[in-house]
Amino acid sequence: MSALAVSVSSIDTGQAQKATHLHANPSVNFADKVAETLALLHQTVTEFSLVTQASSLGAEDVVITHLINHNALNIPVFVLETGALHRETLALLERTQALSVAPVKVYRPATDKVIAFVKTHGQDAMYKSIELRKACCQVRKLEPLAAALQGQRAWVTGLRREQSTNRAEVPLIDRTDEASKGQIKLNPLANWTWGDVWHYISINQVDYNPLHDQFFPSIGCAPCTRAISLGEEFRAGRWWWEDEATKECGLHAKK
Ligand code: SF4
Repeated sequence: MSALAVSVSSIDTGQAQKATHLHANPSVNFADKVAETLALLHQTVTEFSLVTQASSLGAEDVVITHLINHNALNIPVFVLETGALHRETLALLERTQALSVAPVKVYRPATDKVIAFVKTHGQDAMYKSIELRKACCQVRKLEPLAAALQGQRAWVTGLRREQSTNRAEVPLIDRTDEASKGQIKLNPLANWTWGDVWHYISINQVDYNPLHDQFFPSIGCAPCTRAISLGEEFRAGRWWWEDEATKECGLHAKK
């Protein structure tokens, strides 16, 4: 869908460059997009009151959390700490918890279930079959997600249409999401580009995961995420051994 847009000249001598330098490139209507996003978040709070942000601490999600904090929106944040995140992500989680005005709640999988799963299928179960990979996501992500969404009327995600073919038609307001249990799912960045995301991070000096500086555009669990190369699709580094069509963990599956 969207190969990572980085010009070869911007990589020049191979020296590490900040993702903000490489990717910040606002759309001509960037200011309108920010205004539309903010309006949707305000509308969400007014209409649903019980609304929460699901944050993976990726670039899109740190933008949304910044918008929430900067505009004092009553939207608490939650993070699924799967027990398999990169140390860089865990460090960003700590910093976010320390600095965010909006509460940041962490949901973890049930320890006994993780131990039983690993004992039965091994640490590398996700590479053995799609079924086992999805079973791992079920224990480490989907069950904690269900707990995080309990009692909520809506949740906010950082999905963008540009991210993958599977996400090409992501709506701003989604009432047909499979992981939701009656909640409305809001995707306020649906029409933002990667360049918009990094322009926002750059001009607002938003803290972000340093893995983005190492060509990790999409960051999940450590065993299931790798850096991508020039020209590869945005989500090529997620579950890279699987077909494009199966590459969702169930958090964003459609009915
Ligand atoms: S992304 Fe990988 S490690 Fe994380 S829950 Fe899914 S299969 Fe398990």
